[in-house]
Amino acid sequence: MIYKIRPRKGFKLSSIISFVVILSVLITIFISTVIGYNTERKSLFNNTIELNGIAALNLSKTTQSLVISMQKSLEVTANYFSDTELNDENVLSQLDFFMGTSPYFNSLTIVNKNGVIVSTSPNNLNLIGSKPTSEATTESLRLKKPYISKPFHAITNRLIVMVSSPIFDRNGNYKGFVGGSIYLQQANIFRDILGVQASTTSGSYFYVVDSSGYLIYHPDKDRISENVSGNPVVQKLMKGMAGAQRVINSQGQNFLAGFAPVPAAGWGIVSQTPQNHITNISENVIQEMVKFSAPFVLLLVILSFWLSRKLAHPLNRLATYASRLSGGDEKLKPLQADVSWNYEANQLVDTVAVAFNKLRAQKEELHAEANTDALTGLTNRRTMGAITTLWKQQGTPFSVIIMDLDHFKNVNDRHGHQMGDEVLKFVAGIMVSEKGPEDYCCRFGGEEFTMLLPHATEAEAVQVAERIRLRIQQSVTPIGESVTMSLGVATFPDAAEEVVELFKFADQALYQAKRDGRNRTVAYSSLMNMARI
Ligand code: GH3
Ligand code: MG
Ligand code: MG
Repeated sequence: MIYKIRPRKGFKLSSIISFVVILSVLITIFISTVIGYNTERKSLFNNTIELNGIAALNLSKTTQSLVISMQKSLEVTANYFSDTELNDENVLSQLDFFMGTSPYFNSLTIVNKNGVIVSTSPNNLNLIGSKPTSEATTESLRLKKPYISKPFHAITNRLIVMVSSPIFDRNGNYKGFVGGSIYLQQANIFRDILGVQASTTSGSYFYVVDSSGYLIYHPDKDRISENVSGNPVVQKLMKGMAGAQRVINSQGQNFLAGFAPVPAAGWGIVSQTPQNHITNISENVIQEMVKFSAPFVLLLVILSFWLSRKLAHPLNRLATYASRLSGGDEKLKPLQADVSWNYEANQLVDTVAVAFNKLRAQKEELHAEANTDALTGLTNRRTMGAITTLWKQQGTPFSVIIMDLDHFKNVNDRHGHQMGDEVLKFVAGIMVSEKGPEDYCCRFGGEEFTMLLPHATEAEAVQVAERIRLRIQQSVTPIGESVTMSLGVATFPDAAEEVVELFKFADQALYQAKRDGRNRTVAYSSLMNMARI
């Protein structure tokens, strides 16, 4: 019975180990990436908010001193004109002088107490004599105090902010005001002083709002004068607060903003960075990390694959060996426990090798036992039957010699059964020494033997029979004397075409030898010849 190893389901050890290694590497990378990403993001987030807070404060200080300087400069100009009668001839050259020495304004205007423009510098504005109706003018005239306007469209249709300072004479009578205009959408003092920091690679920028939430400075010129008082940061500024926070602007974008008020003007400064800049940086960090670790991961995976195959190799070898063993592979050599560098594999292969080799040896022993006679070591009767049946099937011609020791009962009687057995073994030895390489010597039962000679003619078989008979007759057996035997020979298919019949005829020849006086060989054909005579 041959047992085949059924192919089993299940994953290969190398696949499992590789899978576990790859999984753990990926999980590690994932965890460290997530932690790295979050940490990076958080610190960038906090740093950016903090930096914008600081930037807004610095800018507000600068703007504050800028506004104070503007007002001071206008005050000096206003004082200068306190004794002068306000008309264009008197004023123009002096106004041009102030315009030339002051860096703050795009233009200067003197308006008398009746609200009529007396002079402008530069004087190419063609406004002299006109009566502006803007809130900036009316408020300056009404308040008779230093004043900063909201952004508005002047007669020239320019978008401006006007800073004004009242003019009084020596007696304190109000004469009008001097107004300094800042053209919001052209080159102006804000851009000169603050504009350097307008934008950075991070996309950060700042803007200035007035006390009503109107944009008076923004890098995007088109947005200047837009009202952004809906913005939560601007609302805080309008309450005079400073701080830093995340904010969603009027256009729905996320920013990290710092903000600070400019008390001298009632304005506020916002410095802000788009939040997606931080996301971009964090994502770049992740990309760098992945790029950096990719070759290491690849190396690890290859290494783990190689390692696991190496680990699994002894086990695979064992499995193959076991399969061949149970499959009855005749050419199977004893299992060599070659050395692996894995301790457990060595242990296992050593132990299993011992067990397998023992099993193999036992199997061979059993095989031999089943085929041979225990006393003489000759082929037993069962195997002899199998061999002759096979030869008959194959059509192999062969001769059979049947031998029976003469008066063997006497040997037993005189020397004992045990000595009788020794004689049987002795006879078997002689038979084996006389047989050809293809021939089989068998113990037929008791003190009867047979010999099977493939391709031997009856005459050749008779020769072999005679050689054996003579050697036995001439030998001193273990009982100290010689014995004799009688032999009968028959040949397949000449004598009989059936094995049973062939043996019957060989037996008949043997009996004829006994009858003829023992210690002789009789061929079946001679028996036939005799019958014919
Ligand atoms: P012959 O054949 O010449 O007619 O006389 P024989 O005395 O040999 O007669 P037979 O062949 O009938 O003998 C059988 C005897 O062989 C009986 C038994 O004492 C002996 N014998 C049979 N088998 C064994 C055996 O296995 N061992 C021993 N020692 N003796 C055996
Ligand atoms: Mg007998
Ligand atoms: Mg006998």
